[in-house]
Amino acid sequence: MSAVIIAPHSHCEDFTIRDCDRRAKQAADILYEILQSKGINVTRINHEVLRSDSDLNRLPARHSVTRRALWQAISANQPTYLLELHSFPRDDFGGSKITILNLPENTKAARQLAEGIDEIRLSTGSYANDIQYQYLDWPGVIPFLIEVNEDRQKMTDAELVVLMHKIANRLFPIRGGGQTAIFYASILVCVCLLILVIYVGIDNLKQASQNIQT
Ligand SMILES: [Zn+2]
Repeated sequence: MSAVIIAPHSHCEDFTIRDCDRRAKQAADILYEILQSKGINVTRINHEVLRSDSDLNRLPARHSVTRRALWQAISANQPTYLLELHSFPRDDFGGSKITILNLPENTKAARQLAEGIDEIRLSTGSYANDIQYQYLDWPGVIPFLIEVNEDRQKMTDAELVVLMHKIANRLFPIRGGGQTAIFYASILVCVCLLILVIYVGIDNLKQASQNIQT
């Protein structure tokens, strides 16, 4: 399983008005670095498209240069997680730290991703989110739309890193190879001990019967 990361509203030019998702690039960069450090095959789709010029998350942008690059990355790396990062003003989505917007088709996957991570809230997405909509039914693609709170009083940078680690670990859990080896080694030790106990027991019995005979 690989991963493709895109933050469609992350390009910002004017910080006096909110013309972009202000923390989406930070979240996408963190997640990208975490997945790279785990040895995951991860592709980051970069762009410099202002949402006001072209909303990359809407149907009219489906054939744009950026969306084509996304399509190529997904096609070349299946099976893959499509990780779409956004950010929201402090009180949206119930003031949560992170919200995953899911559609009925991927509710189960979203629940599995969020399970046990208290800081993640689930909310219903919209079919207008065209990146999610385009890849909902694609075999070999599991799409997630992840929204992070932009307010650092609601979620500090350190918390964001921790939560991105939790998401990365849920997507790519450590396989049980080491545990399996320990399991089989434990069984081997138990069998050896059992043979030893039986051997010593038989030997003791023999000696006892010899003592009785003599
Ligand atoms: Zn957005």
